[in-house]
Amino acid sequence: MASLALKDVHKSYGDTLVLDRVSLEVAARELIAFLGPSGSGKSTLLRIIAGLETADGGEVWLEGRRIDALPPGDRGVAMVFQHYALYPHMTVRENMAFGLRNAGVPKPEIDARIAQAAHVLEIEAQLEKKPGQMSGGQRQRVAIGRAIVKQPKLFLLDEPLSNLDAALRTRTRVELAQLRQRVDAALIMVTHDQAEAMTLADRMVVLNERRIQQVGTPMDIYARPANAFVARFVGSPA
Ligand code: ADP
Ligand code: MG
Repeated sequence: MASLALKDVHKSYGDTLVLDRVSLEVAARELIAFLGPSGSGKSTLLRIIAGLETADGGEVWLEGRRIDALPPGDRGVAMVFQHYALYPHMTVRENMAFGLRNAGVPKPEIDARIAQAAHVLEIEAQLEKKPGQMSGGQRQRVAIGRAIVKQPKLFLLDEPLSNLDAALRTRTRVELAQLRQRVDAALIMVTHDQAEAMTLADRMVVLNERRIQQVGTPMDIYARPANAFVARFVGSPA
């Protein structure tokens, strides 16, 4: 069974169509990269999956359950934003606990999940700090940690590495690839960086002009681009 299935998802803002009949299946534990130029609809598609935006039509399924009418907190999906969106006045621990407390998770369970996520991400020493006292890389881990404690079936990361310097990007890339194995979830990462997508992803989804242009392994797409746009975008040999 596919972990995530999108069926004919479409979306307009006013008169402007931004997603045109998007269908896709993602397997359990798969790492998918959404790759495409700015404005191609990558973030909109993630927000629709997360429930932060409503599609005009189509279906979203996760592990056999139709989720497109459920509120974001009930979908089994956790999203990590480009700009972290941490609460500046809360400690790291409070940032990670906040959503769980609202969902009614008991305190001992919250503490246990935070301890485990902090261990996985090596941020145990930062738990009582506030975001302003941390580096960009540490803040990014906290944002990922806040997603992990929700124990989602699917992680959505919108350009999660774009604020990091080159060395940290490389390190975080490797960690992300390992993360979904440890947490047993599928992961979709948006990027406009084709090198990032090629090195990380099990499969890439290339978007342009409102549509999925091609879905395949990085090798497949590089070696057999479906059209001229894809060839140019992933830098295939002419
Ligand atoms: P990407 O993440 O690939 O850069 P987006 O999903 O952010 O693309 O945007 C896709 C298109 O939808 C763009 O043309 C953008 O201007 C438009 N768009 C995105 N969000 C909104 C919104 N809230 N209202 C109106 N137009 C939007
Ligand atoms: Mg975007």
